[in-house]
Amino acid sequence: MFMWRVLSGAIAVAECLRAHGMQAIQICQICKNGNESIVHVLVECDMAKQVWQRAKIPLPQHGVAKTTADYMKYFLGLMGKATIPGKYKQAITWLLWGIWKQRNAKMYAGNGGDADIVIAQALEEAEEWKRVNSLEKVTEVQRVSGFGLENKWRRPPAGVLKCNINSSWVNSSRMCGGSWIVRDHRGEVKFHARDAFLPAQNRIVAELRCVLWVMQSLLDLRILDVEIWSESGAALEALNNLRDWSRFRSYLDRFYKLKLHFHQLKLTQSSSKTNVVAWKIVSSITMEGRLHSYLATGGPTWLSSIIDQESRG
Ligand SMILES: [Zn+2]
Repeated sequence: MFMWRVLSGAIAVAECLRAHGMQAIQICQICKNGNESIVHVLVECDMAKQVWQRAKIPLPQHGVAKTTADYMKYFLGLMGKATIPGKYKQAITWLLWGIWKQRNAKMYAGNGGDADIVIAQALEEAEEWKRVNSLEKVTEVQRVSGFGLENKWRRPPAGVLKCNINSSWVNSSRMCGGSWIVRDHRGEVKFHARDAFLPAQNRIVAELRCVLWVMQSLLDLRILDVEIWSESGAALEALNNLRDWSRFRSYLDRFYKLKLHFHQLKLTQSSSKTNVVAWKIVSSITMEGRLHSYLATGGPTWLSSIIDQESRG
């Protein structure tokens, strides 16, 4: 319902300006026909009428709705109506918002006023909105806080690869780094990689960047059925809950875009005990200043004894 709040906020501001006599232009700038009121712009104006007609959304009969609030209630009511085609129904708030933006574009920039553009954009925005919100619910991000984390590395089921990741972050001015290592159901290493990243403002950002880099790398290698295990509970929490972490929105949007390409992707929190290999690889960046990146097949030989031991688990 975020859009709804934004829209009613914009309308409240406009009405407030009008109430205080601050509206300089009284004639509708889009149709040059009629007094510009909120109801006029959103419903009565030629452009608005075209939008609603082409989107097959009926307007109330004369006399049913008079005020902006009446219309808002009416449109909200339509969103639950079975008789309206789904793709337009889910776009109602975006259509209202789009009409309003066209009005502003006309008023402040001298362009805008195209019903087809309003509809095309609204459908696209509604689709994107729906996609991001539905993904949020099905994303399998498992977060087990504190107790209950595995204390032994376990092999993934056949057909799925297990990817342990780690990012290291020292402070906001130092380079940070990431590592990942992919193993199969026999515990054999397929690939491992390390990369250094530009400084990040905090540990969560470093971890989120690391997750995105890992996902992109896995996609590049066509590894599409995978479990990603990370120690960072905070980053997993952020990926699991868009609303509470809106300041990481841009990372989360990229996460959902990348996620679409996987067949199975599960993110799980690991304990530090079961993430030793990834940690050892990454700490060579921040502890030993090794900034060169690499991607390699098989495992790092200097860690083979730990890897062998884990593969028996
Ligand atoms: Zn008009």
